[in-house]
Amino acid sequence: PDASQTLGFQAEVKQLLHLMIHSLYSNKEIFLRELVSNASDACDKLRFEAIDHPELFEGDGELHVRVDYDKTARTITISDNGVGLSKEEAIANLGTIARSGTREFFSKLTGDKQKDAQLIGQFGVGFYSSFIVADKVTVRSRRAGLPSDQAVVWESDGQGEFSIGTTEKAGRGTDVVLHLRADEDEFLSGWKLREVLRRYSDHISLPVQMRKEEWDQEKSEQVKKDEWESVNQANALWTRSKSDVTDEQYREFYKHVSHDYDDPLAWTHNRVEGRSEYTQLLYIPKHAPFDMWDRDARRGVKLYVKRVFIMDDAEQMLPSYLRFVRGVIDSADLPLNVSRELLQESRDVKAIREGSTKRILSLLEDLAENKKEDYATFWAEFGQVLKEGTGEDAANLERIAKLLRFASTKEDSDAQTVTLEDYVARMKEGQDKIYYVTADSYTAGRNSPHLEIFRKKGIEVLVMWDRVDEWMLSHLREFDGKKLVSVAKGGLDLEALADEEEKKHQIEVAEQFKPLVERLQESLKDRVKEVRVTLRLVDSPSCVVVGQNDLSPHLQRMLKAAGQ
Ligand code: ADP
Ligand code: MG
Repeated sequence: PDASQTLGFQAEVKQLLHLMIHSLYSNKEIFLRELVSNASDACDKLRFEAIDHPELFEGDGELHVRVDYDKTARTITISDNGVGLSKEEAIANLGTIARSGTREFFSKLTGDKQKDAQLIGQFGVGFYSSFIVADKVTVRSRRAGLPSDQAVVWESDGQGEFSIGTTEKAGRGTDVVLHLRADEDEFLSGWKLREVLRRYSDHISLPVQMRKEEWDQEKSEQVKKDEWESVNQANALWTRSKSDVTDEQYREFYKHVSHDYDDPLAWTHNRVEGRSEYTQLLYIPKHAPFDMWDRDARRGVKLYVKRVFIMDDAEQMLPSYLRFVRGVIDSADLPLNVSRELLQESRDVKAIREGSTKRILSLLEDLAENKKEDYATFWAEFGQVLKEGTGEDAANLERIAKLLRFASTKEDSDAQTVTLEDYVARMKEGQDKIYYVTADSYTAGRNSPHLEIFRKKGIEVLVMWDRVDEWMLSHLREFDGKKLVSVAKGGLDLEALADEEEKKHQIEVAEQFKPLVERLQESLKDRVKEVRVTLRLVDSPSCVVVGQNDLSPHLQRMLKAAGQ
């Protein structure tokens, strides 16, 4: 090996390492899940690159992950014969965090161990989790295609620096060697490692192997043999039939594909046959990622073609308003050399997108119907994204509309729990519209003077203050044959709801105040279209309304703020 150099971790990595070791200690065996997950990803990547460059296999196309331990050296080694890392890749990938949302993540940390552990989990733990159990980690890796004397060795004690140098490595791929901390000897056991691997890595589609062990009568202990055996089922989880997969396995698979540390909220697994043939295993996470509103964020699902991994973040597989969905789609029809550009035009992809959208909407409907608490979790995390669907997916507008949840004057709380169906079922006799108020906040909406008459008449009004609401309302014009109408607009047709007495009263009042109205009209003529006597106010003397076809005041303010 030639002289190695020492480099510093990116500041965020240092901070993450420190936090991880302290916050995740109670769940320390996840390091194995993370390292096996990375090894499996590396094999997927090699298989993908080898579609166009079969020579990268170097005559060895049987990809596997191997886990071994050495009691004397007190090490655990996780090896793969996947794509490997070049020196530059090792520096970039094992010394920095190049993810969007990193800054938000660090700004949310509190110093409270438990809360932080949860946050770190949401952020994704990955390679650095090695340092929970190891006080030194050595990575030896050779990138597929590079000569054996151009392998890289990376080493760190997880304190703030790592060294990197060039070395020899005959076999392609990566060995990660963990030098265990003083109290971690429990992992130096074939039984313990198998147990953890079965729990966390059974869904991995390649063989995860360990050395066979035998009881040695003389030494009176287990001795390892030179033979390797698989400790997992080693077939892609999504190709198994549903009855052969336990919930636990579905959950672990989710963690692998999503890089999430938490369990998923729900999933749907189907094989579709017919004109277009594919398998989908799609999950709804429990929480929004840090970068949900980031344009460069990871989104979409992993695409496989006939079990061969093709790409991460295949955003064409689902409409953008379902970008929170994670999982796998495995197509039997697409060509192996499909590119992102080709995906955009493919008819097979269109069929998959439509089919997957329907599946997710059904899954959400099922939650809304049968698991109300889970649906509330979903709504709190992803409701604002789902609302985008009203504009993006006209074909499913009605189904999406039924999944929406609102705050309303009925509940008198900012909890978004009311459905449009609830609202319609509670409509007053003679009421034929769905009324809403939009504002910058719940409180502002709730206190709008426009609500006075509605309150007096006991008519429910939906209160909306999310940024996407105005946009949604420009697409969601009616529900169940009833128009959605802003209380801030003119022509409310409240007359239909007025009783005889009130109608008579209004005519009298209008007559009585005619001279006043005319005077006001004259003096305000450059500033308003019309001055009218109204029944809509109860406590306030006057209010400004906008024409039926004009922009709402809230939207006007938003456009102004955006410099329009
Ligand atoms: P993630 O898996 O979410 O990308 P990790 O922290 O687990 O994040 O890994 C960081 C990166 O290091 C990976 O994206 C990959 O580029 C690289 N890496 C880690 N383990 C391996 C491996 N066994 N073989 C090749 N590259 C690896
Ligand atoms: Mg990883």
